[in-house]
Amino acid sequence: MQTIGLIGGMSYESTITYYQQINKFINSKLGKMHSAKCIIYSVDFEQIAQCQREDNWEQASKILTEAALSLQKAGADFIVICTNTMHKVVPTIQANINLPILHIAKVTANTLIEHNITKVGLLGTKYTMQLDFYKDILKQKGIEVICPEIKDMDIVNKIIFDELCQGIIKDDSRQQYLHIIEKLQKQNAQAIILGCTEIGLLIQQKHCSCKIFDTTLLHAQAAAIKAIA
Ligand code: GLU
Repeated sequence: MQTIGLIGGMSYESTITYYQQINKFINSKLGKMHSAKCIIYSVDFEQIAQCQREDNWEQASKILTEAALSLQKAGADFIVICTNTMHKVVPTIQANINLPILHIAKVTANTLIEHNITKVGLLGTKYTMQLDFYKDILKQKGIEVICPEIKDMDIVNKIIFDELCQGIIKDDSRQQYLHIIEKLQKQNAQAIILGCTEIGLLIQQKHCSCKIFDTTLLHAQAAAIKAIA
């Protein structure tokens, strides 16, 4: 089995899900008392969030490159960055390490293709929805991406940072998300990407009439499959 190097803490709420899902998947495949061989480097998320707010991606990439190098030194076979947003700095991290990075947007794009989805709604932080680094990977695979209108992006983003990253789950916020998802469906989105690793804490398939793809679950499962391949 390969050792997974997880860069977590962004936020720690979703890193818990990664750890649990990776172990559950590996145990379901290998049985007995099997569990994942993994190393977690958990960052201080306030430092990263501050870099995001200040548009200082260079500093954020330095912090995450340090984390990746530590995991490399500690014996990880590949890297999993437990957030969509921080995949913005993957090219810099990748250029400085000798291990492969399992890219969350590529995993998501491949799953959408398997499900014949060609037009999808994207929910995530404002960075993931507004910048190109994430959407471009989906577009390159022939998938059209639609995002909420600006005022709805603000709602989605605010709920992520003010509530979900702090473990606060509110029914009112779920209703706001579901309303925004409905609007994306009306624009013919065939499915919705939960493109932020905390959204799955608020929205699950049972809440939605349309198909949802939770990037945390997809990424964790892909990591587990890769580890035991
Ligand atoms: N975990 C989130 C994501 O998947 C948001 C936190 C962050 O900005 O990294 O994008």
